[in-house]
Amino acid sequence: MKKNLSLYIHMPFCERKCEYCGFNSKVGTDQEKAIYVKDLFTEIKMRAKEYAEYFSVDSIFFGGGTPSFMPANTIRDVLSYIYRYFSVKNDAEITVEVNPNTITNAKIREYIISGVNRFSIGLQTTNEKILKAMGRTHTVQDFDNAIERIRDQGVSNINADLIIGYPGQTEKDVENAVKHLISLKIPHVSCYMLQVEEGTKLYKRVKAGLENVVPDDKVIKMYNKMLSILRANGYARYEFSNFAKPGFQCTHNQTYWDRNDYLGFGVSAHSYVSGVRFSNTDNVQLYHERLSQEKLATEIANELSKEEKQEEFVMLALRTEKGLNTKDYEKEFGENFLSKNKNKLAVLIKGGFVTLSPEGVIKATDKGFLVLNRIIYELI
Ligand code: SF4
Repeated sequence: MKKNLSLYIHMPFCERKCEYCGFNSKVGTDQEKAIYVKDLFTEIKMRAKEYAEYFSVDSIFFGGGTPSFMPANTIRDVLSYIYRYFSVKNDAEITVEVNPNTITNAKIREYIISGVNRFSIGLQTTNEKILKAMGRTHTVQDFDNAIERIRDQGVSNINADLIIGYPGQTEKDVENAVKHLISLKIPHVSCYMLQVEEGTKLYKRVKAGLENVVPDDKVIKMYNKMLSILRANGYARYEFSNFAKPGFQCTHNQTYWDRNDYLGFGVSAHSYVSGVRFSNTDNVQLYHERLSQEKLATEIANELSKEEKQEEFVMLALRTEKGLNTKDYEKEFGENFLSKNKNKLAVLIKGGFVTLSPEGVIKATDKGFLVLNRIIYELI
């Protein structure tokens, strides 16, 4: 029987670069975009030769950058290449990330006809002043219109992204944004705590003293506020940054946290297949040079050692609401996690940071989720 496989396709182009953006994205010309898509076709074909025989695809995710900034036929063309070379399950989850002001009715229709059944759309905040400061190119009204357009065409499986901890943002802003999403009945919310990454415009502004980073205790208050509002409205936190109404958890993200197999296409795309991790170059020009010669653009590849796999197991499992199943750990690594970490676990349980169920599942508590990195550090 074929194993499940998730596919990620990176589209690195955006209308403009947001102030805080640390992703691999750039403002590209139409010609650059066309060349890039052609290279993607080549990569899909080449990787399929190696993997398609052993896997069937259960989720596909178009991320970026801004996939909806590409011409309308791009998603259709890439998907038709995937359908040609991989076996894709009938009920596969197919997500495309869209920007509120680059998603037209024609594009939505085109995506849906091609098989897209989930949309992920960036709102970030409902404070227009902060949206502007972030360098976002849309307004809250653009977001609302986009949601209406997607719904009008029959798709209700929608995620909205929020950011918390942006300079100038208040707890009230976070509350307003979350309530806005609830009023629009968005069934899935991803909420990221801002990391001011080196190399971003925001980083330079912070370094120059033009912006103040929001202190950690305030960010935690914002996170707790968001969590309590979402919970009170029927959303469950199933991973530190992800919240869903019943039945709307994201299959694709689950693949990463469960350490299942996934293949990434495009610049800086990461893959993890059969215990081997590899990633493509982050340079669009180099990606093109390699693919135009029918050579893969893999830059880093390494088979994970047992210790590395154990660390990932702990790190990823503890971020999820499912928690760390110590029986699964023992099955995979032949080691008893509970006896190995007996003393540390006792301290964490006593402090109210984690719980241990009679079935041997360790879960972070609400208090523990706020110091997750520290807990993970203790247990790996
Ligand atoms: S839209 Fe997203 S990927 Fe593009 S610049 Fe803004 S944050 Fe970065």
